[in-house]
Parts: sequence; structure tokens; C-alpha cells
Amino acid sequence: MCKTAIYPGSFDPITYGHIELIKRALGIFEDVIVAVANNVEKNPIFSVKERLEMIKDAVKDLDNVSVESFDGLVVDFARKKKVSVIIRGLRMISDFEYEFQMALTNRRLASDVETIFLMPSEQYSFLSSRLLKEAAHLGADLSSFVPAEVEKALKKKLKK
Ligand code: ADP
Repeated sequence: MCKTAIYPGSFDPITYGHIELIKRALGIFEDVIVAVANNVEKNPIFSVKERLEMIKDAVKDLDNVSVESFDGLVVDFARKKKVSVIIRGLRMISDFEYEFQMALTNRRLASDVETIFLMPSEQYSFLSSRLLKEAAHLGADLSSFVPAEVEKALKKKLKK
């Protein structure tokens, strides 16, 4: 049995939805590696370094969580870390098609790596980093969506 799971994503930026998923994963696995994708094609607004720092700060009170970045395929990163479980989140039906395609593609690439989906609580089931950035642009109060440090960083970034 695998004691460690990898939770990969863009985390641009990390939200309470991601954080809740990490906590749920810790209820099943002993350790969770949060893996920040260095995916320039998604045009992230935060650099990998900034995303890593925000996540590290957000999970500082959680035991057994480490935070790393990776380039390339998540299955290659999983193999490098000798981990055979990938955690992904499923919010609504809209996530399903993309996540399903990706999980099956990853299975084709690495049949020894399993993807497990976790669902957030209802309050976070509509929350995405993309919508968050739009709301931040419009000057919304983000305190119920992200930790204070992330809200500060978002506002600073969007002022530039
Ligand atoms: P990616 O670009 O890889 O989709 P994201 O940071 O947007 O990166 O999401 C990483 C994973 O976390 C995805 O599986 C996504 O469905 C999940 N996720 C994002 N926001 C939430 C949320 N509010 N609740 C549960 N899962 C979420």
C-alpha cells in the first residue's frame, strides 16, 4: 500500500478549496506532496517560486505535507518520488470531462500510478483559482476563499 500521495496542480494561487483537499488526503494517506506544475502554457500570474511560498505558508500548521515543484509529466514526477497515487479534486460536472481524460491518459502512460478523486465540501465546490482572479480584478473581498497572505499577494500582483 502507498503511504504517500501526490497532489499536483497549478495552484495559481492556492485557495481554501485546495487546502481542504490536502486535509482530506491527509485523512487517507500518511504524507501528501503538493506538487506545483511549472506550466508556462497556462500563463500563471504567479511564478513557481511565489506559488511554492504561498502554499508553504498556507500548510505550515499541517504535519506531513511537503511542497515541491515539477516540470514535465506528473507521472514521471510520481515515479521519481516512488509514489503511486495522484490526488485530484472534482468540484462539479464541469471538472469531470477534463479530469477523466487526464486520469486515463496518465493511466495509459503509467499503469502503476492510480488517480484518486476527492470532493470538497459544498462551500468550496464552486471555487476555482480562475474565478478567484476575476473576482480579485473586480475588487471583491476574498477572505472566505483564500488565506490572508494569498489575498494580499493577489491584490499586489493585480495592481502591477
Ligand atoms: P490544474 O491546472 O492542474 O487544474 P488547479 O490548481 O486549478 O490546477 O487544480 C488542481 C486540482 O485541484 C484539480 O484537480 C482541481 O480540480 C482541484 N481543485 C481546484 N480547486 C478546487 C476546489 N475548490 N475544491 C476541490 N478541488 C479543487
